Parts: sequence; structure tokens; C-alpha cells
Amino acid sequence: MALTTTDVLRWLQHLARTLHEQSAYLTQLDAAIGDADHGINMDRGFTAVNGKLAGLSDADIGTIFKTVGMTLVSTVGGASGPLYGTAFLRAGTVTAGKSVLESADIVALLDAAIEGVKARGKAQTGEKTMLDALVPALEAARQAQAEQQDIAHVLRRSSEAAEVGMKETIPMLATKGRASYLGERSIGHQDPGATSSWLILKTWADTADQEEGGS
Ligand code: ADP
Ligand code: MG
Repeated sequence: MALTTTDVLRWLQHLARTLHEQSAYLTQLDAAIGDADHGINMDRGFTAVNGKLAGLSDADIGTIFKTVGMTLVSTVGGASGPLYGTAFLRAGTVTAGKSVLESADIVALLDAAIEGVKARGKAQTGEKTMLDALVPALEAARQAQAEQQDIAHVLRRSSEAAEVGMKETIPMLATKGRASYLGERSIGHQDPGATSSWLILKTWADTADQEEGGS
């Protein structure tokens, strides 16, 4: 089983809907340790992405990801816009010209996306950011791929690891981004960006499962 361009477009549509529905939740998480705009930022960015999907039905997957990245950079003002924007742009570079994705492509694009986030935000794991969901997700994807799992399982394992990583941000002290201004008071709250990263991967695993069930 592989994912096609249509599957990627369906996932992005589903993701836009999910981020819209979860906007209040993400904003509430950001209200505790930031400036209460993460849900608004993600919703704004992915609503703009959603508006571009209809024009991308003939595009390759790399072009789709690059369009997502550029749209996020240009529509989201917060830290998360350039960070997720860079992540999607890098994912677009490693999938340039592709019309299908296999398990190995998931590992490669997550790896590239994370390198982009690290380069842009100068953060590492353990600093209470999106990387605390994304890096375990990559490790789980790599493990699943080494076990020859199909793409739906690779995405599911990756999403489950992101969820664990997201929860592990609760006791962490924030040392990057706005949450770091709170110092010790950042402890005890789940990181909003780690939460949106989990939603991104969860919606992808959910759409891949539907695809597998339907084909
Ligand atoms: P802002 O902080 O500008 O208001 P958002 O609220 O949209 O932007 O996004 C906040 C999220 O961005 C945080 O929860 C965190 O996960 C992520 N983040 C902030 N700074 C960094 C960084 N340097 N590296 C990685 N992720 C970061
Ligand atoms: Mg914020």
C-alpha cells in the first residue's frame, strides 16, 4: 500500500477541519503558557491551505507540501507559522516529483521536517516544544519501517509516539519560545505546539486507515 496525491489532499482537508474544531482547545493550552493564539494561528493557516487544495489536484506531492509551507509562512504570524512552514517546505523538498509515498518516504519527510524546525527554532527535545512530539514520532516511524510495516501502521505508530511525547511536555520547563518567559510557571502545562503536531500526525494516520479499509 502507498499513499497517492489524492490521499495527501484528503488528509490536508481533514487536518484543516480538525484544526478548526480544535482551535479553542489549542488556544486554551496557549493561554496557560503563551499568548492564547495558537489555535487561532493554526486555524488561520490551514484555512488558507484548504483554500488552495482544489487547485493542486494535478500537482506532485512535493509541490503540495511546498504550497502548504509557503501558505503557512505567509498567513501565520506566530512562531508556529515559520516553524511549521519550514517543516512542510523541507518535506516538499524530499518528496519533489513524487506522486506516491511509501513507508520510507514518511521517515525521510519527517526527518527533513524536523531538521527544518531545529534549524529555524534552534531548539532540541526536552525544551517543551513541538519537537517533543515530532522527534519521538520520527523514531517510531523509523522503527516501524525497519520492521517492514505498511504505511498506515508507520503513520499510526508515529502518531501514538507523538501523543506520548506531547503528554511528556507537561512536567517540562520551557526554555524556548514565549512559554520560556514564564520560567518555572511553565511546568505543569501541556505544550500547545506539541499538541498541534500530534493532531497533524493523528489526522494523517486516521486518513491512511480509512484508505486502507476502503481499498
Ligand atoms: P507564538 O509563540 O509566537 O504565539 P504559537 O502560539 O502559534 O506562536 O506557537 C507556540 C508553539 O510554538 C509552542 O507551543 C512551541 O511548541 C512552538 N515553538 C515556539 N518556539 C519554538 C522553537 N524555538 N522551536 C520549536 N518550537 C517552538
Ligand atoms: Mg502563541
